[in-house]
Amino acid sequence: MIGRSLKRLHWQLGIIAFAIAIASLLILQKSERSIRSSSAGKSYVKVAKVIDGDTVRLRDGRIVRYIGIDAPEVGKPFYKEAKVANSKLVFRKNVRLEFDVQKFDRHGRVLAYVYVGRGKEEVFVNAELVRLGYAKAYTVPPNVKYANLFVKLQREAMEKGRGLWRNKASGRGRYIANKRTLIFHRPTCPYARKIASPNRLFFNSPIEAMKAGYRPCRECNP
Ligand SMILES: [Zn+2]
Repeated sequence: MIGRSLKRLHWQLGIIAFAIAIASLLILQKSERSIRSSSAGKSYVKVAKVIDGDTVRLRDGRIVRYIGIDAPEVGKPFYKEAKVANSKLVFRKNVRLEFDVQKFDRHGRVLAYVYVGRGKEEVFVNAELVRLGYAKAYTVPPNVKYANLFVKLQREAMEKGRGLWRNKASGRGRYIANKRTLIFHRPTCPYARKIASPNRLFFNSPIEAMKAGYRPCRECNP
Protein backbone atom coordinates (compact mmCIF):
# COMPACT_ATOMS: atom_id res chain seq x y z
CA MET A 1 0.00 0.00 0.00
CA ILE A 2 2.69 2.48 1.06
CA GLY A 3 4.95 1.29 -1.73
CA ARG A 4 2.30 1.96 -4.36
CA SER A 5 1.46 5.54 -3.23
CA LEU A 6 5.19 6.30 -3.06
CA LYS A 7 5.53 5.14 -6.65
CA ARG A 8 2.61 7.37 -7.66
CA LEU A 9 4.24 10.34 -5.88
CA HIS A 10 7.47 9.75 -7.81
CA TRP A 11 5.51 9.63 -11.04
CA GLN A 12 3.68 12.91 -10.24
CA LEU A 13 6.90 14.67 -9.24
CA GLY A 14 8.44 13.50 -12.48
CA ILE A 15 5.63 15.05 -14.52
CA ILE A 16 5.89 18.35 -12.63
CA ALA A 17 9.66 18.56 -13.12
CA PHE A 18 9.26 17.80 -16.82
CA ALA A 19 6.59 20.51 -17.19
CA ILE A 20 8.82 23.08 -15.46
CA ALA A 21 11.74 22.20 -17.72
CA ILE A 22 9.61 22.61 -20.86
CA ALA A 23 8.13 25.91 -19.64
CA SER A 24 11.50 27.46 -18.81
CA LEU A 25 12.86 26.34 -22.17
CA LEU A 26 9.97 28.08 -23.94
CA ILE A 27 10.43 31.29 -21.92
CA LEU A 28 14.16 31.29 -22.65
CA GLN A 29 13.56 30.81 -26.37
CA LYS A 30 11.02 33.62 -26.46
CA SER A 31 13.31 36.12 -24.74
CA GLU A 32 16.17 35.15 -27.04
CA ARG A 33 13.94 35.78 -30.02
CA SER A 34 12.91 39.22 -28.78
CA ILE A 35 16.55 40.23 -28.33
CA ARG A 36 17.93 38.90 -31.56
CA SER A 37 16.27 38.81 -34.91
CA SER A 38 18.30 37.18 -37.58
CA SER A 39 18.46 37.75 -41.28
CA ALA A 40 20.86 36.12 -43.71
CA GLY A 41 22.72 34.45 -40.86
CA LYS A 42 23.74 37.78 -39.29
CA SER A 43 23.03 38.45 -35.64
CA TYR A 44 21.15 41.61 -34.66
CA VAL A 45 20.66 43.14 -31.22
CA LYS A 46 18.30 45.95 -30.30
CA VAL A 47 19.64 49.26 -28.93
CA ALA A 48 17.88 50.02 -25.63
CA LYS A 49 19.55 53.32 -24.73
CA VAL A 50 21.77 55.90 -26.40
CA ILE A 51 24.33 57.10 -23.86
CA ASP A 52 26.10 59.68 -26.05
CA GLY A 53 27.38 60.21 -29.58
CA ASP A 54 29.60 57.14 -29.55
CA THR A 55 28.18 54.81 -26.87
CA VAL A 56 24.96 52.79 -26.55
CA ARG A 57 23.45 50.15 -24.29
CA LEU A 58 21.98 47.07 -25.94
CA ARG A 59 18.82 45.29 -24.83
CA ASP A 60 20.93 42.37 -23.59
CA GLY A 61 22.72 44.78 -21.21
CA ARG A 62 26.03 45.15 -23.05
CA ILE A 63 27.50 48.66 -23.36
CA VAL A 64 28.96 49.27 -26.80
CA ARG A 65 31.63 51.89 -27.51
CA TYR A 66 32.00 52.65 -31.21
CA ILE A 67 35.53 51.98 -32.46
CA GLY A 68 37.65 54.63 -34.19
CA ILE A 69 35.56 57.70 -33.44
CA ASP A 70 35.13 60.16 -30.58
CA ALA A 71 32.01 62.24 -29.97
CA PRO A 72 31.90 65.15 -27.47
CA GLU A 73 31.41 64.18 -23.82
CA VAL A 74 28.81 65.61 -21.41
CA GLY A 75 29.32 69.33 -20.87
CA LYS A 76 31.39 69.79 -24.04
CA PRO A 77 30.12 71.76 -27.04
CA PHE A 78 28.07 69.69 -29.46
CA TYR A 79 27.48 66.85 -26.98
CA LYS A 80 23.70 67.01 -27.32
CA GLU A 81 23.68 67.27 -31.11
CA ALA A 82 25.96 64.24 -31.39
CA LYS A 83 23.77 62.21 -29.02
CA VAL A 84 20.63 63.14 -30.98
CA ALA A 85 22.32 62.17 -34.26
CA ASN A 86 23.30 58.79 -32.81
CA SER A 87 19.74 58.29 -31.48
CA LYS A 88 18.25 59.00 -34.88
CA LEU A 89 20.45 56.31 -36.36
CA VAL A 90 20.15 53.48 -33.82
CA PHE A 91 17.67 54.04 -30.96
CA ARG A 92 15.31 51.03 -30.66
CA LYS A 93 16.75 49.66 -33.89
CA ASN A 94 18.34 46.28 -34.41
CA VAL A 95 22.05 46.66 -34.99
CA ARG A 96 24.80 44.32 -36.13
CA LEU A 97 28.24 44.41 -34.52
CA GLU A 98 31.62 43.87 -36.13
CA PHE A 99 34.75 43.58 -34.01
CA ASP A 100 38.41 44.47 -34.38
CA VAL A 101 41.48 43.19 -32.51
CA GLN A 102 40.29 44.13 -29.00
CA LYS A 103 36.77 43.02 -28.07
CA PHE A 104 36.57 45.13 -24.89
CA ASP A 105 38.02 48.38 -23.56
CA ARG A 106 39.43 48.78 -20.05
CA HIS A 107 35.96 49.72 -18.73
CA GLY A 108 34.56 46.39 -19.96
CA ARG A 109 32.60 48.01 -22.77
CA VAL A 110 32.25 46.11 -26.03
CA LEU A 111 34.32 47.74 -28.80
CA ALA A 112 32.49 47.47 -32.10
CA TYR A 113 31.75 48.75 -35.57
CA VAL A 114 27.97 49.12 -35.66
CA TYR A 115 25.64 48.64 -38.62
CA VAL A 116 21.95 49.46 -38.82
CA GLY A 117 19.47 48.62 -41.55
CA ARG A 118 17.96 51.45 -43.57
CA GLY A 119 15.57 50.14 -46.18
CA LYS A 120 17.45 47.44 -48.04
CA GLU A 121 20.80 48.95 -47.22
CA GLU A 122 23.00 48.89 -44.17
CA VAL A 123 24.41 52.09 -42.67
CA PHE A 124 27.86 51.96 -41.06
CA VAL A 125 27.05 54.02 -37.96
CA ASN A 126 30.63 54.84 -36.87
CA ALA A 127 31.44 56.18 -40.34
CA GLU A 128 28.14 58.02 -40.73
CA LEU A 129 28.66 60.00 -37.51
CA VAL A 130 32.11 61.12 -38.69
CA ARG A 131 30.82 61.90 -42.19
CA LEU A 132 28.08 64.14 -40.77
CA GLY A 133 30.53 65.89 -38.45
CA TYR A 134 29.06 64.58 -35.17
CA ALA A 135 32.22 62.72 -34.16
CA LYS A 136 35.93 62.97 -34.82
CA ALA A 137 38.09 60.21 -36.21
CA TYR A 138 39.95 58.82 -33.23
CA THR A 139 42.23 55.87 -33.87
CA VAL A 140 43.40 53.76 -30.96
CA PRO A 141 45.74 50.96 -32.10
CA PRO A 142 45.49 48.02 -32.53
CA ASN A 143 41.87 48.63 -33.62
CA VAL A 144 42.60 50.29 -36.95
CA LYS A 145 40.52 48.37 -39.50
CA TYR A 146 38.67 51.47 -40.82
CA ALA A 147 41.04 54.23 -39.65
CA ASN A 148 41.72 55.47 -43.19
CA LEU A 149 38.02 55.61 -44.02
CA PHE A 150 37.27 57.66 -40.88
CA VAL A 151 40.08 60.15 -41.63
CA LYS A 152 38.83 60.52 -45.21
CA LEU A 153 35.24 61.12 -44.05
CA GLN A 154 36.44 63.58 -41.42
CA ARG A 155 38.29 65.57 -44.07
CA GLU A 156 35.07 65.68 -46.09
CA ALA A 157 33.06 66.88 -43.04
CA MET A 158 35.66 69.57 -42.30
CA GLU A 159 35.73 70.82 -45.87
CA LYS A 160 31.94 70.99 -46.00
CA GLY A 161 31.84 72.62 -42.54
CA ARG A 162 29.40 70.05 -41.16
CA GLY A 163 28.42 69.63 -37.49
CA LEU A 164 31.43 70.07 -35.24
CA TRP A 165 33.28 71.78 -38.06
CA ARG A 166 30.55 74.33 -38.80
CA ASN A 167 32.39 77.38 -37.52
CA LYS A 168 35.89 76.05 -37.79
CA ALA A 169 36.33 76.63 -41.51
CA SER A 170 36.48 80.37 -40.92
CA GLY A 171 38.29 80.16 -37.57
CA ARG A 172 40.80 82.97 -37.14
CA GLY A 173 43.60 83.73 -34.80
CA ARG A 174 46.71 81.88 -34.00
CA TYR A 175 46.31 78.32 -32.88
CA ILE A 176 49.34 76.97 -31.10
CA ALA A 177 50.60 73.47 -31.79
CA ASN A 178 53.15 71.34 -30.03
CA LYS A 179 55.57 69.66 -32.45
CA ARG A 180 56.42 67.02 -29.86
CA THR A 181 52.89 65.91 -28.82
CA LEU A 182 51.22 66.76 -32.18
CA ILE A 183 48.39 68.48 -30.27
CA PHE A 184 47.17 72.02 -30.99
CA HIS A 185 45.46 74.50 -28.66
CA ARG A 186 43.54 77.73 -28.47
CA PRO A 187 45.88 80.61 -27.59
CA THR A 188 44.13 80.91 -24.21
CA CYS A 189 44.70 77.27 -23.19
CA PRO A 190 47.01 76.85 -20.16
CA TYR A 191 48.73 73.96 -21.95
CA ALA A 192 49.51 76.20 -24.93
CA ARG A 193 51.47 78.56 -22.71
CA LYS A 194 53.57 75.68 -21.35
CA ILE A 195 54.89 74.59 -24.75
CA ALA A 196 58.63 75.23 -24.99
CA SER A 197 59.37 77.70 -27.79
CA PRO A 198 61.40 75.27 -29.97
CA ASN A 199 58.32 72.99 -30.03
CA ARG A 200 55.83 75.74 -30.90
CA LEU A 201 54.11 75.98 -34.25
CA PHE A 202 51.29 78.35 -35.27
CA PHE A 203 48.26 77.76 -37.44
CA ASN A 204 45.57 80.16 -38.64
CA SER A 205 42.72 77.67 -38.26
CA PRO A 206 41.96 74.29 -36.68
CA ILE A 207 41.49 72.86 -40.17
CA GLU A 208 44.95 73.96 -41.19
CA ALA A 209 46.38 72.32 -38.07
CA MET A 210 44.48 69.08 -38.62
CA LYS A 211 45.48 68.91 -42.27
CA ALA A 212 49.07 69.11 -41.07
CA GLY A 213 48.45 66.06 -38.88
CA TYR A 214 47.85 67.74 -35.52
CA ARG A 215 44.92 66.84 -33.29
CA PRO A 216 42.86 69.18 -31.10
CA CYS A 217 43.50 69.45 -27.38
CA ARG A 218 40.69 67.77 -25.43
CA GLU A 219 40.88 70.47 -22.75
CA CYS A 220 40.42 73.68 -24.77
CA ASN A 221 38.61 71.98 -27.69
CA PRO A 222 39.89 74.26 -30.49
ZN1 LIG B 1 44.50 73.08 -25.04
